[in-house]
Amino acid sequence: MKSSTALRSILVLLALALAITVQAADKTIVLKAARLFDGKSKALVQNGVVIVQGNKIVDVGGNLSEPGDAQVIDLGDATLSPGFMDGHTHLTLDFSGNYNERRLKEVDLNVSEQAIMATKHARATVEAGFTTVRDLGSRFVGSKEMVDVALRNSINKGVIVGPRMLVATFGIGATGGHFDPTSGFRDMLFGREPDFSDGIADGPDAIRKAVRFEVKNGADVIKAAVSGGVLSLADEVDTPQLTPAEMAALVDESHRLRKKVAVHCHGDQAAKEAVEAGVDSIEHGSFLKPETLTLMKNKGTYLTPTLMATEWILGKIDNYPPALQAKAKAAGAARSEMFRNAVKMGVKISFGTDAAVFPHGQNAKEFKLMVDLGMPAIDALKTATGNAADLFGIAQKTGTLEKGKLADVIAMAGDPTTDITATERVSFVMKEGKIIRNGPPSSAPVAESGETPVEIPAD
Ligand SMILES: [Zn+2]
Repeated sequence: MKSSTALRSILVLLALALAITVQAADKTIVLKAARLFDGKSKALVQNGVVIVQGNKIVDVGGNLSEPGDAQVIDLGDATLSPGFMDGHTHLTLDFSGNYNERRLKEVDLNVSEQAIMATKHARATVEAGFTTVRDLGSRFVGSKEMVDVALRNSINKGVIVGPRMLVATFGIGATGGHFDPTSGFRDMLFGREPDFSDGIADGPDAIRKAVRFEVKNGADVIKAAVSGGVLSLADEVDTPQLTPAEMAALVDESHRLRKKVAVHCHGDQAAKEAVEAGVDSIEHGSFLKPETLTLMKNKGTYLTPTLMATEWILGKIDNYPPALQAKAKAAGAARSEMFRNAVKMGVKISFGTDAAVFPHGQNAKEFKLMVDLGMPAIDALKTATGNAADLFGIAQKTGTLEKGKLADVIAMAGDPTTDITATERVSFVMKEGKIIRNGPPSSAPVAESGETPVEIPAD
């Protein structure tokens, strides 16, 4: 008798739980706004409507009639859009303050404390309307912690709020190159030279081992530094850092494991060799000549311009040591012409910012920089939606507002095709059918340095 009562209450509880689940999955939300951008079309749709059920979009268009039992959210004079995607972030890091102070802090703070900071960066990013990021490199000197993997997993499990993340773990680079975390420190300060287990590899076989090691530990995408960089102390910004044979091994091994390859590259020679090796995207690309851009156009290689990175550094140039100032000025002087050429030539472009170089949450400022350099506003919006999903390899699931896609939907005040800075005024964020923000953000954009984020000067 007692056990049958218990059984009955368990059954009742199960039925109740099932009912709640079914109800949550079936709940219909109708999002309405004056305009809608679907992530791929040439023009906005008037009187935009997106109908969401569970985590999916079930209908989308202009002037759709709403189902009777739906919750209607009317966002007024706003534009609905697919959630933005940033193809180049570092959510676990913050380089936005004084360079030397940041370097000291990195060896001073416990990695766990830095990981907790990263949860704020993740929230600031998704609240700014970026529902997906490719996080291209996370490393803490002297530590093997893969904080990006932990951050991604915690977001996926619903423990913390953040964007969908495709992570690269450490990224791969040459000894003394842009990714060598010990560069610029006293020789052997950390007791050993970094190796494949830090992402540092020399020679094709070592590169393959590093790729396998990173995928084994959770990498969704492979990142490598094939040329020098701006914020590294032991290299020149445009020198090649991997040989063609190393790049061939990098691409072959990554593609065998079905991972895309994104390469940090400022220099023209390194870019040409990387594109010939078959990489999926060139990140930064500051010094790329028209000949190399033509090669990219022909091979369908994406450019991720990260204009925000140089913009921020040049706007706060005194925060950086003299050697890095010179590198930033050279890259900044070259990249505007490179970007104009890429737009004119029709090179595929995916939105990416290098967030961490500037405070997380200001990613959308990249849109205006692209439009100011000659890209039509509607195309700039595509870089962060349909194009990015294509580069990331997730276009079947998300990136556009279409029936059957995941309900990653944002709204921004006004019309971004007449004023691109509307992208900086996102007021509503839904990720996979869950409302993350409807109204003001939970906090202002994060500046770890404690400074209020500074407005960056126009180009
Ligand atoms: Zn970067």
